[in-house]
Amino acid sequence: MRRTRPVLALLAVAGLLAAAGCTASDSPRPVPPPESAPVSLAPEFARDTTCEPERSLRPSGALPAPGRMPADSRMAEIVRNGRLVLGTSQDTLLFSSRNPRTGQVEGFDVDMGRQIAAALFGDPKKLQIKVVPHAERTAWVRNGKVDLVINTMTANCERWQEVDFSTVYYVAGQRVLVAEGSGIDSLDELGGQKVCAAVGSTSLENIAKVPSKPIPVSKPGFGECLVAFQQNEVAAISTDDTILAGLKAQDPFAKIVGARLTKEPYAIAISKEHPEFTRFVNQVLERMRQDGTWARIHQKWLGTTTQPPAAEYR
Ligand code: GLU
Repeated sequence: MRRTRPVLALLAVAGLLAAAGCTASDSPRPVPPPESAPVSLAPEFARDTTCEPERSLRPSGALPAPGRMPADSRMAEIVRNGRLVLGTSQDTLLFSSRNPRTGQVEGFDVDMGRQIAAALFGDPKKLQIKVVPHAERTAWVRNGKVDLVINTMTANCERWQEVDFSTVYYVAGQRVLVAEGSGIDSLDELGGQKVCAAVGSTSLENIAKVPSKPIPVSKPGFGECLVAFQQNEVAAISTDDTILAGLKAQDPFAKIVGARLTKEPYAIAISKEHPEFTRFVNQVLERMRQDGTWARIHQKWLGTTTQPPAAEYR
């Protein structure tokens, strides 16, 4: 039985902000590294991989120097615009959340964007952040509201029909967050109970695939899911273990349980109209893998040292 937590419920939004403050770039709050993905996933979570979603466009030639982009390329246009426009969220602690002390959105995903801005301009600050709703990510890339989306976003075949993806820069997996003392140890034990995820996320679709039939509840983002959880509107939140780690850091009465149900390879979404920009981003990612920048950013936000996922090309 879950007890009610009226005080936490009232403080949920303030808690989000306060916890975000604890992850100021000077003192990131480390979280345990996610478990490695299981070798085989249950058949109900199997994904269409016929498009080979983890393979991206191969870079060609050397990375151009900042400010010296090939004429007529998308990169040259972005340099003329004076800033790189990044779509991300502001409530994903450790990956992209607003630091109330500085007003800046910061995290692992934002630092990926800053590296791309640095490669374009020679200045990581030339990055404009737009908060994009989870369900609008591919639409915003397609209609040019943003130059790219870096937002714990899984590269899958459905999304590849709408946008191109970079090579994979992080691999997460879906798990579930429940109340401590709930006695629940897996998503499958939540049959008939409400489980929250963001609208437009792969997580929401997966909840509906669980054989015991938990009831999927959608919210605009995972911050809203945490509020719903703390108000006992939902029994659990299920999404990538990366995002759950950030939510758990904000709620001492929550715990993450169960094995990884899925493999969520994160990649950067870019318009299909600009394949040269995807190749450029892949070059920047390649350099970050090789010169230790990726490892440094991982250490800074996730508190552990590990190897980046290898690039795969089509
Ligand atoms: N990685 C999953 C997805 O892209 C869930 C988290 C999210 O929506 O950002 O759908």
